[in-house]
Amino acid sequence: MNILVVNAGSSSLKYQLIDTATDVVRAKGICERIGMDGSLIEHKQLIKGSKVKLESPMKDHADAMKLVVKYLTDAEYGCVADMNEIQAIGHRVVHGGSFFSGSILMTEDVLEKLELCKEFAPLHTVAHLMGIKGCLDAMPGKPQVLVFDTAFHQTMEPEAYMYALPYEYYEKYGLRRYGFHGSSHRYVSAEMAKLLDKPVEETKIVTCHIGNGSSISAVKGGKVMDTTMGFTPLAGVEMGTRCGDIDPAIVPYLMDKEGMTAAQVNDVMNKKSGFLGITGFSSDSRDLEGAIAAGPSDPNYEKCLLAVNILKHQLKKCIGAYAAIMNGLDAVVFTAGIGENSASLRERVCVDMEYLGIELDKQANEKAVRLSGSAKISTDSSKVAVYAIPTNEELVIARDTAAIVESL
Ligand code: AMP
Repeated sequence: MNILVVNAGSSSLKYQLIDTATDVVRAKGICERIGMDGSLIEHKQLIKGSKVKLESPMKDHADAMKLVVKYLTDAEYGCVADMNEIQAIGHRVVHGGSFFSGSILMTEDVLEKLELCKEFAPLHTVAHLMGIKGCLDAMPGKPQVLVFDTAFHQTMEPEAYMYALPYEYYEKYGLRRYGFHGSSHRYVSAEMAKLLDKPVEETKIVTCHIGNGSSISAVKGGKVMDTTMGFTPLAGVEMGTRCGDIDPAIVPYLMDKEGMTAAQVNDVMNKKSGFLGITGFSSDSRDLEGAIAAGPSDPNYEKCLLAVNILKHQLKKCIGAYAAIMNGLDAVVFTAGIGENSASLRERVCVDMEYLGIELDKQANEKAVRLSGSAKISTDSSKVAVYAIPTNEELVIARDTAAIVESL
Protein backbone atom coordinates (compact mmCIF):
# COMPACT_ATOMS: atom_id res chain seq x y z
CA MET A 1 0.00 0.00 0.00
CA ASN A 2 1.11 3.58 -0.61
CA ILE A 3 0.58 5.53 2.60
CA LEU A 4 1.01 9.28 2.93
CA VAL A 5 2.47 9.98 6.38
CA VAL A 6 1.73 13.51 7.61
CA ASN A 7 3.30 15.36 10.55
CA ALA A 8 1.45 18.66 10.86
CA GLY A 9 2.91 21.48 12.97
CA SER A 10 1.34 24.89 13.51
CA SER A 11 3.06 26.49 10.51
CA SER A 12 4.73 23.49 8.89
CA LEU A 13 3.77 20.14 7.47
CA LYS A 14 6.19 17.28 6.86
CA TYR A 15 5.21 14.32 4.72
CA GLN A 16 6.51 11.02 3.37
CA LEU A 17 4.97 8.66 0.84
CA ILE A 18 5.83 5.13 1.98
CA ASP A 19 5.20 1.89 0.11
CA THR A 20 4.43 -0.53 2.96
CA ALA A 21 4.99 -3.60 0.72
CA THR A 22 8.69 -2.72 0.49
CA ASP A 23 9.12 -0.10 3.29
CA VAL A 24 10.53 2.23 0.58
CA VAL A 25 10.06 5.98 1.00
CA ARG A 26 9.05 7.11 -2.50
CA ALA A 27 8.82 10.84 -1.83
CA LYS A 28 9.13 13.22 1.06
CA GLY A 29 9.01 16.90 1.76
CA ILE A 30 8.07 19.81 3.94
CA CYS A 31 5.78 22.81 3.63
CA GLU A 32 6.96 25.73 5.76
CA ARG A 33 5.66 29.15 6.80
CA ILE A 34 2.04 28.06 6.22
CA GLY A 35 -0.27 31.04 6.75
CA MET A 36 2.64 33.51 6.54
CA ASP A 37 4.41 35.49 3.86
CA GLY A 38 6.97 33.51 1.91
CA SER A 39 5.49 30.03 2.41
CA LEU A 40 7.53 27.40 0.61
CA ILE A 41 7.53 23.73 -0.28
CA GLU A 42 10.55 21.47 -0.56
CA HIS A 43 9.70 18.19 -2.26
CA LYS A 44 11.95 15.22 -3.10
CA GLN A 45 11.08 12.30 -5.35
CA LEU A 46 13.39 9.64 -3.99
CA ILE A 47 13.10 7.01 -6.73
CA LYS A 48 14.22 9.29 -9.59
CA GLY A 49 16.08 11.67 -7.29
CA SER A 50 14.32 14.78 -8.61
CA LYS A 51 13.63 17.63 -6.23
CA VAL A 52 12.01 21.02 -6.15
CA LYS A 53 12.05 23.92 -3.68
CA LEU A 54 9.93 26.96 -4.33
CA GLU A 55 7.86 29.68 -2.73
CA SER A 56 4.14 29.21 -3.17
CA PRO A 57 1.31 30.86 -1.25
CA MET A 58 -0.31 28.58 1.36
CA LYS A 59 -2.88 30.36 3.51
CA ASP A 60 -3.66 27.21 5.51
CA HIS A 61 -2.96 23.46 5.81
CA ALA A 62 -5.55 22.68 3.12
CA ASP A 63 -3.53 24.77 0.63
CA ALA A 64 -0.39 22.97 1.76
CA MET A 65 -1.99 19.53 1.23
CA LYS A 66 -3.22 20.57 -2.23
CA LEU A 67 0.35 21.47 -3.13
CA VAL A 68 1.61 18.14 -1.76
CA VAL A 69 -0.97 16.32 -3.92
CA LYS A 70 0.14 18.38 -6.95
CA TYR A 71 3.79 17.36 -6.54
CA LEU A 72 3.07 13.73 -5.65
CA THR A 73 1.20 13.38 -8.96
CA ASP A 74 3.46 15.68 -11.02
CA ALA A 75 4.97 14.24 -14.22
CA GLU A 76 8.51 15.28 -13.28
CA TYR A 77 8.54 15.30 -9.47
CA GLY A 78 5.71 12.90 -8.71
CA CYS A 79 5.71 9.17 -7.99
CA VAL A 80 2.06 8.23 -8.54
CA ALA A 81 -0.12 8.70 -11.63
CA ASP A 82 -3.06 9.91 -9.56
CA MET A 83 -4.27 9.96 -5.97
CA ASN A 84 -6.08 6.61 -6.38
CA GLU A 85 -2.62 5.06 -6.06
CA ILE A 86 -2.41 6.40 -2.49
CA GLN A 87 -4.61 4.29 -0.26
CA ALA A 88 -4.63 6.25 3.00
CA ILE A 89 -3.12 8.98 5.15
CA GLY A 90 -1.44 8.38 8.52
CA HIS A 91 -1.04 11.30 10.91
CA ARG A 92 1.49 11.66 13.70
CA VAL A 93 -0.39 12.98 16.73
CA VAL A 94 1.57 14.11 19.77
CA HIS A 95 -0.99 13.66 22.55
CA GLY A 96 -3.86 11.20 22.79
CA GLY A 97 -4.48 11.63 26.53
CA SER A 98 -5.97 8.48 28.07
CA PHE A 99 -8.43 8.21 25.19
CA PHE A 100 -6.20 6.39 22.74
CA SER A 101 -4.11 3.32 23.53
CA GLY A 102 -3.49 2.50 19.88
CA SER A 103 -3.75 3.89 16.37
CA ILE A 104 -7.27 4.55 15.16
CA LEU A 105 -9.28 5.38 12.04
CA MET A 106 -10.39 9.02 11.99
CA THR A 107 -14.16 9.38 12.54
CA GLU A 108 -16.36 12.17 13.92
CA ASP A 109 -16.24 10.52 17.34
CA VAL A 110 -12.44 10.31 17.25
CA LEU A 111 -12.19 13.97 16.26
CA GLU A 112 -14.38 14.93 19.22
CA LYS A 113 -12.02 13.09 21.58
CA LEU A 114 -9.00 14.67 19.90
CA GLU A 115 -10.56 18.09 20.54
CA LEU A 116 -10.45 17.23 24.25
CA CYS A 117 -6.69 16.56 23.96
CA LYS A 118 -6.20 20.29 23.28
CA GLU A 119 -6.15 20.57 27.08
CA PHE A 120 -2.88 18.62 27.22
CA ALA A 121 -1.01 19.85 24.15
CA PRO A 122 -2.81 22.92 22.78
CA LEU A 123 -0.41 23.98 20.02
CA HIS A 124 0.28 20.49 18.70
CA THR A 125 -3.35 19.35 18.82
CA VAL A 126 -4.63 22.43 17.00
CA ALA A 127 -1.97 21.87 14.31
CA HIS A 128 -2.93 18.18 13.96
CA LEU A 129 -6.60 19.11 13.60
CA MET A 130 -5.64 21.61 10.87
CA GLY A 131 -3.62 18.90 9.11
CA ILE A 132 -6.53 16.44 9.26
CA LYS A 133 -8.96 19.08 7.96
CA GLY A 134 -6.46 20.02 5.23
CA CYS A 135 -6.38 16.38 4.09
CA LEU A 136 -10.19 16.20 4.16
CA ASP A 137 -10.30 19.24 1.86
CA ALA A 138 -7.51 18.18 -0.48
CA MET A 139 -8.31 14.44 -0.59
CA PRO A 140 -11.99 13.99 0.31
CA GLY A 141 -12.95 10.41 1.13
CA LYS A 142 -9.37 9.21 1.67
CA PRO A 143 -9.17 7.17 4.92
CA GLN A 144 -7.13 8.90 7.62
CA VAL A 145 -5.53 7.13 10.59
CA LEU A 146 -4.20 8.77 13.75
CA VAL A 147 -1.03 7.41 15.36
CA PHE A 148 -0.28 8.81 18.83
CA ASP A 149 3.09 9.49 20.48
CA THR A 150 1.49 8.64 23.81
CA ALA A 151 -0.27 5.38 22.82
CA PHE A 152 2.59 2.89 23.36
CA HIS A 153 2.95 4.09 26.95
CA GLN A 154 -0.67 3.40 27.83
CA THR A 155 0.38 -0.05 29.13
CA MET A 156 1.94 1.55 32.24
CA GLU A 157 0.37 0.57 35.56
CA PRO A 158 -1.07 3.32 37.80
CA GLU A 159 1.92 2.95 40.15
CA ALA A 160 4.11 4.16 37.26
CA TYR A 161 1.86 6.82 35.79
CA MET A 162 0.28 8.42 38.88
CA TYR A 163 1.82 11.45 40.57
CA ALA A 164 1.49 11.60 44.35
CA LEU A 165 -0.67 14.72 44.18
CA PRO A 166 -4.24 14.90 45.53
CA TYR A 167 -6.16 12.26 43.55
CA GLU A 168 -8.83 14.77 42.57
CA TYR A 169 -6.40 16.47 40.14
CA TYR A 170 -6.06 13.22 38.24
CA GLU A 171 -9.85 12.93 38.09
CA LYS A 172 -10.47 16.59 37.24
CA TYR A 173 -7.60 17.30 34.85
CA GLY A 174 -6.16 13.94 33.85
CA LEU A 175 -2.88 14.88 35.60
CA ARG A 176 -0.69 11.80 35.14
CA ARG A 177 2.38 10.58 33.30
CA TYR A 178 1.58 9.97 29.62
CA GLY A 179 5.03 9.60 28.02
CA PHE A 180 6.03 10.59 24.48
CA HIS A 181 8.14 9.36 21.50
CA GLY A 182 5.94 6.22 21.72
CA SER A 183 6.28 5.27 18.05
CA SER A 184 10.07 5.45 18.35
CA HIS A 185 10.24 3.38 21.55
CA ARG A 186 7.86 0.88 19.98
CA TYR A 187 9.88 0.60 16.76
CA VAL A 188 13.33 0.21 18.33
CA SER A 189 12.15 -2.12 21.10
CA ALA A 190 10.50 -4.38 18.50
CA GLU A 191 13.67 -4.34 16.35
CA MET A 192 15.74 -5.13 19.45
CA ALA A 193 13.43 -8.01 20.44
CA LYS A 194 13.97 -9.52 16.95
CA LEU A 195 17.75 -9.23 17.40
CA LEU A 196 17.60 -10.92 20.82
CA ASP A 197 16.07 -13.93 19.12
CA LYS A 198 13.70 -14.77 21.93
CA PRO A 199 9.94 -14.37 22.33
CA VAL A 200 9.00 -10.71 22.87
CA GLU A 201 7.13 -11.76 26.06
CA GLU A 202 10.47 -12.70 27.62
CA THR A 203 12.42 -9.54 26.77
CA LYS A 204 13.51 -6.74 29.11
CA ILE A 205 14.73 -3.72 27.15
CA VAL A 206 15.66 -0.13 28.00
CA THR A 207 15.19 2.18 25.00
CA CYS A 208 17.05 5.51 25.06
CA HIS A 209 15.65 7.98 22.52
CA ILE A 210 18.19 10.80 22.79
CA GLY A 211 17.81 13.72 20.43
CA ASN A 212 16.80 17.32 20.83
CA GLY A 213 14.02 15.91 22.97
CA SER A 214 14.91 12.78 24.91
CA SER A 215 13.04 10.03 26.70
CA ILE A 216 13.95 6.64 28.09
CA SER A 217 11.55 3.69 28.45
CA ALA A 218 11.51 0.35 30.23
CA VAL A 219 9.89 -2.15 27.86
CA LYS A 220 9.18 -5.57 29.39
CA GLY A 221 7.53 -8.25 27.29
CA GLY A 222 6.81 -5.66 24.58
CA LYS A 223 4.93 -3.40 27.04
CA VAL A 224 6.06 -0.11 28.53
CA MET A 225 6.50 -0.36 32.32
CA ASP A 226 7.80 3.18 32.76
CA THR A 227 9.08 6.14 30.79
CA THR A 228 10.84 9.36 31.71
CA MET A 229 8.62 11.96 30.03
CA GLY A 230 5.47 12.73 31.96
CA PHE A 231 2.35 14.86 31.74
CA THR A 232 4.32 16.89 29.20
CA PRO A 233 7.56 16.31 27.24
CA LEU A 234 9.40 18.56 29.73
CA ALA A 235 9.99 15.75 32.23
CA GLY A 236 12.82 13.23 32.38
CA VAL A 237 16.45 13.68 31.40
CA GLU A 238 18.31 16.82 30.35
CA MET A 239 17.55 17.79 26.71
CA GLY A 240 18.65 20.36 24.12
CA THR A 241 16.73 23.25 25.69
CA ARG A 242 14.51 21.47 28.26
CA CYS A 243 15.59 20.97 31.87
CA GLY A 244 14.01 17.55 32.45
CA ASP A 245 13.27 16.58 36.07
CA ILE A 246 13.93 19.23 38.70
CA ASP A 247 12.70 19.72 42.25
CA PRO A 248 9.16 21.10 41.63
CA ALA A 249 9.62 23.59 44.48
CA ILE A 250 12.12 25.43 42.26
CA VAL A 251 9.20 26.81 40.21
CA PRO A 252 7.60 28.96 42.98
CA TYR A 253 11.09 29.79 44.32
CA LEU A 254 12.15 31.23 40.94
CA MET A 255 8.83 33.05 40.52
CA ASP A 256 9.46 34.70 43.87
CA LYS A 257 13.17 35.48 43.46
CA GLU A 258 13.10 36.58 39.80
CA GLY A 259 9.62 38.11 39.82
CA MET A 260 8.60 35.83 36.98
CA THR A 261 5.13 34.55 36.07
CA ALA A 262 4.43 30.83 35.85
CA ALA A 263 4.45 31.18 32.05
CA GLN A 264 7.90 32.80 32.14
CA VAL A 265 9.35 30.01 34.30
CA ASN A 266 7.75 27.49 31.97
CA ASP A 267 9.46 29.24 29.06
CA VAL A 268 12.84 29.07 30.83
CA MET A 269 12.38 25.36 31.59
CA ASN A 270 11.35 24.53 28.01
CA LYS A 271 13.47 26.85 25.88
CA LYS A 272 16.41 28.14 27.87
CA SER A 273 17.54 25.14 29.91
CA GLY A 274 19.16 21.78 29.16
CA PHE A 275 22.37 21.89 27.09
CA LEU A 276 21.64 25.50 26.18
CA GLY A 277 21.04 26.57 29.77
CA ILE A 278 24.17 24.92 31.17
CA THR A 279 26.58 25.87 28.37
CA GLY A 280 25.05 29.27 27.68
CA PHE A 281 25.79 28.92 23.98
CA SER A 282 24.33 25.86 22.26
CA SER A 283 21.57 23.24 22.41
CA ASP A 284 23.28 21.13 19.74
CA SER A 285 25.28 18.18 21.05
CA ARG A 286 27.74 18.48 18.14
CA ASP A 287 28.80 21.93 19.39
CA LEU A 288 29.24 20.54 22.90
CA GLU A 289 31.31 17.62 21.67
CA GLY A 290 33.39 19.98 19.53
CA ALA A 291 34.26 22.11 22.56
CA ILE A 292 35.09 19.04 24.66
CA ALA A 293 37.30 17.65 21.87
CA ALA A 294 39.13 21.01 21.67
CA GLY A 295 40.19 20.51 25.29
CA PRO A 296 40.47 22.68 28.45
CA SER A 297 41.86 25.64 26.48
CA ASP A 298 38.43 26.05 24.83
CA PRO A 299 36.44 28.67 26.81
CA ASN A 300 33.33 26.46 26.63
CA TYR A 301 35.08 23.22 27.64
CA GLU A 302 34.09 23.08 31.34
CA LYS A 303 30.42 23.89 30.84
CA CYS A 304 30.08 21.57 27.84
CA LEU A 305 31.65 18.72 29.78
CA LEU A 306 29.30 19.42 32.68
CA ALA A 307 26.22 19.47 30.39
CA VAL A 308 27.19 16.15 28.80
CA ASN A 309 28.07 14.59 32.16
CA ILE A 310 24.71 15.59 33.64
CA LEU A 311 23.00 13.65 30.85
CA LYS A 312 25.40 10.71 31.28
CA HIS A 313 24.71 10.57 35.01
CA GLN A 314 20.95 10.67 34.48
CA LEU A 315 21.07 7.95 31.81
CA LYS A 316 23.11 5.62 34.01
CA LYS A 317 20.67 6.16 36.89
CA CYS A 318 17.72 5.57 34.64
CA ILE A 319 19.08 2.35 33.10
CA GLY A 320 19.81 1.02 36.62
CA ALA A 321 16.36 2.00 37.89
CA TYR A 322 14.62 0.43 34.91
CA ALA A 323 16.63 -2.80 35.29
CA ALA A 324 15.39 -2.85 38.90
CA ILE A 325 11.70 -2.45 38.06
CA MET A 326 11.93 -5.05 35.25
CA ASN A 327 13.88 -7.41 37.53
CA GLY A 328 16.54 -7.79 34.85
CA LEU A 329 17.90 -6.40 31.63
CA ASP A 330 18.50 -8.06 28.25
CA ALA A 331 19.31 -5.05 26.13
CA VAL A 332 19.86 -1.29 25.98
CA VAL A 333 19.08 0.56 22.74
CA PHE A 334 20.33 4.01 21.75
CA THR A 335 18.38 5.88 19.09
CA ALA A 336 17.52 9.35 17.64
CA GLY A 337 19.99 12.10 16.64
CA ILE A 338 22.39 11.79 19.58
CA GLY A 339 21.74 8.12 20.40
CA GLU A 340 22.43 7.07 16.80
CA ASN A 341 25.43 9.31 16.21
CA SER A 342 27.26 10.20 19.38
CA ALA A 343 29.71 7.37 20.10
CA SER A 344 31.19 9.47 22.90
CA LEU A 345 27.91 9.87 24.81
CA ARG A 346 27.20 6.13 24.45
CA GLU A 347 30.67 5.35 25.76
CA ARG A 348 30.28 7.70 28.74
CA VAL A 349 27.01 5.95 29.64
CA CYS A 350 28.12 2.35 29.10
CA VAL A 351 31.53 2.30 30.81
CA ASP A 352 31.64 1.20 34.46
CA MET A 353 28.35 -0.66 34.10
CA GLU A 354 29.84 -4.17 34.40
CA TYR A 355 27.89 -4.75 37.61
CA LEU A 356 24.73 -4.52 35.54
CA GLY A 357 26.16 -6.84 32.87
CA ILE A 358 26.99 -4.14 30.31
CA GLU A 359 30.34 -4.44 28.50
CA LEU A 360 30.92 -1.96 25.68
CA ASP A 361 32.87 -2.88 22.54
CA LYS A 362 34.65 0.46 22.12
CA GLN A 363 35.72 -0.13 18.52
CA ALA A 364 32.26 -1.24 17.40
CA ASN A 365 30.83 1.77 19.22
CA GLU A 366 33.17 4.21 17.43
CA LYS A 367 32.14 2.79 14.06
CA ALA A 368 28.39 2.99 14.79
CA VAL A 369 27.58 6.45 13.43
CA ARG A 370 25.33 7.60 10.58
CA LEU A 371 23.67 4.20 10.79
CA SER A 372 22.17 2.43 7.82
CA GLY A 373 20.88 -0.32 10.10
CA SER A 374 21.20 -1.76 13.61
CA ALA A 375 24.72 -1.84 15.08
CA LYS A 376 25.78 -3.98 18.01
CA ILE A 377 28.10 -2.03 20.30
CA SER A 378 28.51 -4.49 23.20
CA THR A 379 31.09 -7.27 23.37
CA ASP A 380 30.09 -10.87 22.62
CA SER A 381 30.57 -11.72 26.30
CA SER A 382 28.41 -8.82 27.53
CA LYS A 383 25.38 -10.22 29.41
CA VAL A 384 23.35 -7.24 28.26
CA ALA A 385 23.24 -6.55 24.50
CA VAL A 386 23.76 -2.88 23.63
CA TYR A 387 22.71 -1.62 20.21
CA ALA A 388 22.41 1.62 18.28
CA ILE A 389 19.28 1.33 16.14
CA PRO A 390 18.04 4.02 13.74
CA THR A 391 14.50 4.93 14.65
CA ASN A 392 11.73 5.13 12.06
CA GLU A 393 8.57 6.70 13.41
CA GLU A 394 7.19 7.31 9.91
CA LEU A 395 7.38 3.60 9.10
CA VAL A 396 5.43 2.78 12.29
CA ILE A 397 2.76 5.29 11.22
CA ALA A 398 2.62 3.89 7.66
CA ARG A 399 2.40 0.28 8.86
CA ASP A 400 -0.34 1.01 11.41
CA THR A 401 -2.29 2.97 8.81
CA ALA A 402 -2.00 0.16 6.24
CA ALA A 403 -3.06 -2.47 8.81
CA ILE A 404 -6.13 -0.47 9.86
CA VAL A 405 -7.17 0.28 6.28
CA GLU A 406 -6.67 -3.36 5.24
CA SER A 407 -8.97 -4.48 8.05
CA LEU A 408 -11.85 -2.22 6.95
P1 AMP B 1 16.85 14.66 16.79
O1 AMP B 1 15.99 15.50 17.67
O2 AMP B 1 16.62 13.19 16.95
O3 AMP B 1 16.84 15.10 15.35
O4 AMP B 1 18.36 14.89 17.30
C1 AMP B 1 18.97 16.15 17.26
C2 AMP B 1 20.26 16.08 18.05
O5 AMP B 1 21.11 15.07 17.48
C3 AMP B 1 21.08 17.39 18.05
O6 AMP B 1 21.53 17.68 19.36
C4 AMP B 1 22.26 17.04 17.16
O7 AMP B 1 23.39 17.73 17.53
C5 AMP B 1 22.42 15.56 17.45
N1 AMP B 1 23.27 14.93 16.44
C6 AMP B 1 22.99 14.73 15.14
N2 AMP B 1 24.08 14.19 14.52
C7 AMP B 1 25.05 14.05 15.47
C8 AMP B 1 26.40 13.59 15.49
N3 AMP B 1 26.96 13.13 14.37
N4 AMP B 1 27.07 13.58 16.66
C9 AMP B 1 26.51 14.05 17.79
N5 AMP B 1 25.25 14.51 17.83
C10 AMP B 1 24.53 14.52 16.70
